[in-house]
Amino acid sequence: MQQLSIPIPPVFKQKFNGKPFSHCLVCEKELIASGAHYLIEKAVRRYKDYNSEDIVFEYAICTDCHQHMLVHYSQESLEAMRAFFAEHVDFKLRQETMREMAEKEAFNTGDWIRNCLVRGTPVENLEEYQMGCECIGDRMIISSMPYIIGGPAIDELTMQLSNETIDQMRGLMDKFLGLPPDLRKLLNDSGILIL
Ligand SMILES: [Zn+2]
Repeated sequence: MQQLSIPIPPVFKQKFNGKPFSHCLVCEKELIASGAHYLIEKAVRRYKDYNSEDIVFEYAICTDCHQHMLVHYSQESLEAMRAFFAEHVDFKLRQETMREMAEKEAFNTGDWIRNCLVRGTPVENLEEYQMGCECIGDRMIISSMPYIIGGPAIDELTMQLSNETIDQMRGLMDKFLGLPPDLRKLLNDSGILIL
């Protein structure tokens, strides 16, 4: 199947300078010129009363490093994650619809990051959410991503994970993101990152 892609939209560029992410957070390899396969992940805190947002963190991670992280999670947790998404999300339909739009050159990233992937909650009604997309070089590819997941859905998913996996996730976040506890608390109850 042909890989459909579009230029990386502004929402998935770096907040502070508007430029594309250029290096993997973990192995620091160059991503754009090398045509690397990578994910972009952001966690957002939203202040409803002020209609404003803070990016808690944002980064790109190459798929090799991402796979390597998953190895640290328990089999039960990985299976629980798969089951959780299989129960709540029709990825096949979602991807087919996105591809159809892209083929008609009518794909609009905003349409796919407007509601929580799991619960459908509009982003305006979320106090926090995580968003992600998948890229190759300077292009965002149409895959199961892009999407956003709201705080309540993240908490629901977290409850399915083993304590060991949650500890692993926290450890990896501390190591690579260097999040101070105050900032991590902004994320969600358990302070973990899902994507
Ligand atoms: Zn990497």
